[in-house]
Amino acid sequence: MAAPSMGGVMLPRGNGQTVRLPRGASLTDLAERINAEPAALVTALFHLGEMITATQSVNDETLQLLGAEIGWVIQVVSPEDEDRELLETFDLTFGDEEGDEDDWSSRPPVVTVMGHVDHGKTKLLDALRHANVQSKEAGGITQHIGAYQIVTELEHNERPITFIDTPGHESFTAMRARGAKVTDIVVLVVAADDGVMPQTVEALNHAQAAEVPIVVAVNKIDKEGANPAKIRQQLTEYGLVAEEYGGDTMFVDVSATTRQGLDELLTAILLTADASLDLRANTEQDPQGVVIEGKLDKGRGPVATVLVQRGTLRQGDSIVAGDAYGRVRSLLDEHGNKLKEALPARPVQVVGLTSVPRAGDTFLVVEEDRIARQIADRRQARIRNAQNASMRKRISLEDLDAALKETRQLNLIIKGDNSGTVEALEEALMKIEIDDEISLRVIHRGVGGITKSDIDLALADDVIVLGFNVRAEGQATELASREGVDVRYYTVIYQAIDEIEAALKGMLKPIYEEVQLGTAEVREVFRVPKIGNVAGSLVRSGTIVRNAKARLMRDGTVVADNLTVESLRRFKDDATEVREGYECGIGLGSFNDIKVDDVIETFEMREKPRD
Ligand code: GDP
Repeated sequence: MAAPSMGGVMLPRGNGQTVRLPRGASLTDLAERINAEPAALVTALFHLGEMITATQSVNDETLQLLGAEIGWVIQVVSPEDEDRELLETFDLTFGDEEGDEDDWSSRPPVVTVMGHVDHGKTKLLDALRHANVQSKEAGGITQHIGAYQIVTELEHNERPITFIDTPGHESFTAMRARGAKVTDIVVLVVAADDGVMPQTVEALNHAQAAEVPIVVAVNKIDKEGANPAKIRQQLTEYGLVAEEYGGDTMFVDVSATTRQGLDELLTAILLTADASLDLRANTEQDPQGVVIEGKLDKGRGPVATVLVQRGTLRQGDSIVAGDAYGRVRSLLDEHGNKLKEALPARPVQVVGLTSVPRAGDTFLVVEEDRIARQIADRRQARIRNAQNASMRKRISLEDLDAALKETRQLNLIIKGDNSGTVEALEEALMKIEIDDEISLRVIHRGVGGITKSDIDLALADDVIVLGFNVRAEGQATELASREGVDVRYYTVIYQAIDEIEAALKGMLKPIYEEVQLGTAEVREVFRVPKIGNVAGSLVRSGTIVRNAKARLMRDGTVVADNLTVESLRRFKDDATEVREGYECGIGLGSFNDIKVDDVIETFEMREKPRD
């Protein structure tokens, strides 16, 4: 390979060869692939006008620009692409409906409720859950599993609707960001006594960006001051024009409290779905879908709520969900009933996975357990690599900079028994306010026990591992205690917050405060050869101690600070301290500007406990 010079550094030329890099790779990663020195790449990029350190992650365009310069074609592979390729090696694809369209059957719409905080999303979801014809029949209590299906009547047909029951927009966007398009219809909740608020607009933007039709639920119409017309008015500004005003968005006035308008809301959802969506799925193909929620159940082990998107999920299927795999041991609906199979748009709890997948992970059913396992293993390896890479980046130049600026960071890994508590804990911890000098960072979070790979990750830096309702598993316990990794277990959020707060305080630099030791008044100034001026003084208060810090005051102002009592004498003898009411000679080192009537204040700096 030719080795041309680039800004004085030798670089192997690619001659148009292709090199593949994962998105967010660093120059060090590229260097490894093309067998070059990272420093040479830093220099090359510098000559192209970009200052990037060897371990920083580089954006796609910059990588390609650099590639072109040194004769390599750089192909940036996104995690989604990587996963697609992984599946292709097993002759699998995710997301494509298979089969003859004529064989597809219609499926229920999947609805996500969004809106501003306190506008009644949770209450509305609860109210709708009880509007369920079927659950009344079953007499069962619905459990929270992250999604539920209810059945309503439209034109004498029983029509199911699936509601995603995870609060917050994050889950919607997180799933979308990961390519899992789950939601068919967004119900935008706006409180009639409040109006359009920032998160209303945010929700609206998310829905419009995803091209998901919106049904507006104008909630709390039972309240005094409720003004449903104002909501319609306000939303026209955002392109949502009510049908009664000639637009095509259905607005329904509801009260989650009095349950008024719920049937109308359900009807509006179905009508909107029928009018603008063709919701059909192939029930015959290999089942696929998305994980809505995952948790570790004390008795049953990992349990994932999944939404089947196509195909029919059955007991006994070999399944891979994210980096978890297993065989479907049982399928349970939101009432805890065992199901034999789950059709498209059915949310269902899957028991039988080896670990807990994350919300937004996709799942596939494959032919054999072995394939499920291989895919899961490969994904695990990839996640581990990405984590290691990001760890490497963290203990890099950037951190060195940070260290020099003396900002400090406490890193955490949070593991818990379900995604809700993990999120809640993370959120609560992030709210701890300490000081600008110190920051808290969650470098990894997940559902499930503390594994060996969590401890591996913790080893790379100062990391505290928090287990919320979970423990470290086998090898992990051993590794943690051998390597001295700080693993802490909690069952109460407040306790975790208190301890982390204390840990953060422990990292603060000490604060010192000045403590007065004694003052002395200058009565006479002596010139002592070789030493300089000595203040013949009378101690007015406290004690003057040799080597104490001092400042000189004249007429109430500070003449000099940062002085030290370098010599202290009583008559002809050296003294270590002289108390109030006694006379002494004080020498302030090379500082000679001492006058009669000056006051020498002495003090020491003591560490102050933080409160
Ligand atoms: P979220 O933050 O959007 O999930 O809002 P919540 O469902 O927690 O509701 C916020 C508050 O509004 C709670 O105190 C509810 O009881 C109350 N609320 C919700 N819907 C209604 C309603 O239709 N009428 C009245 N009067 N109060 C409601």
